[in-house]
Amino acid sequence: MLALSVSARRRDGGLLVLTAASSSQSSRARTSECVRAKPQTITAPDYSGSKSNAVSHQHCPDLEARRPYSGMSDSRDSMQCLHCVSLWGMMAVTFDKIVDISLELDPRNFAMRTPAGFTKDLQFAMEVLKEHDAPGGAGQVVRGVHMRLHAGSHVDAPEHNVRGGAQIHELPLALFIGDAIIADLRDKMPGKAITEADLDKTVGSYLRNGDRVLLRTDHNNSYDGGSDKWMKASPYLTIEATRWLIEKGVVIVGYDFYHGNDEPGSPRVFHNSRTLSEHGVITMPYLKNLDRITKRRVTLIALPLNIIGAEASPVRAVALM
Ligand SMILES: [Zn+2]
Repeated sequence: MLALSVSARRRDGGLLVLTAASSSQSSRARTSECVRAKPQTITAPDYSGSKSNAVSHQHCPDLEARRPYSGMSDSRDSMQCLHCVSLWGMMAVTFDKIVDISLELDPRNFAMRTPAGFTKDLQFAMEVLKEHDAPGGAGQVVRGVHMRLHAGSHVDAPEHNVRGGAQIHELPLALFIGDAIIADLRDKMPGKAITEADLDKTVGSYLRNGDRVLLRTDHNNSYDGGSDKWMKASPYLTIEATRWLIEKGVVIVGYDFYHGNDEPGSPRVFHNSRTLSEHGVITMPYLKNLDRITKRRVTLIALPLNIIGAEASPVRAVALM
């Protein structure tokens, strides 16, 4: 059984100490006997800046006994052992600033695209279920919301694109806390291709296996509810760029532009996000404020809700600098 304990204290700046380990066998897990037929060694991100904190792991046998993380048996060789990601030992993060990179969910004006196939065009609506002065209501106000799980900043589990793929509650929480790097792609606006060479140029020299990558264009700083103009101005990942991210061991790809655009001539609709899902890579669309991140490597925290049986969840995504 896995346990993630988090203690945080802030003084002038901040120190966040995260301990992720097996609740019963933490030391054994860190030295680990993780073995598989084709072991792939993963070096944990060096959160503290000290090499002594880096831990190498090989794939965990538990993964073989568990439901394939992505739901695609043929993707195991290229995916990371995310069970082991959650077993990486202590990570200490110091920070001076928390940058909110989440899109607002304002019921007065929120809107998002509704592609074909929906039975209901659910956007984001809020209603009062109990007023403060409701008879017998104990003086409380209670509201409810009607929304898609994909409204605003959110994460897509593999099941979103892969029938039978992992759902939100099956993903390790450690996926959603950890190192992220910013790929500055502002020159790809409007509507240009993001190629393998572009990614290699902007982040290739410091990308580490297990990183999260946030694709920055600043387009969502003026998000307009998902108009055709917004969509067409959004860049797109080429097929080779998508494969590059997978091969580099990226675990989450975040976007501050429309993530549904594909390279012209792609073999299927939503080809890029579908390919990422098939390889167990989580997509995190509808981010904003990436221009407020002034470091190229930050700690991302974007925890999904503990919803059982869903393909996606809203997140409050923040970057610690
Ligand atoms: Zn989504």
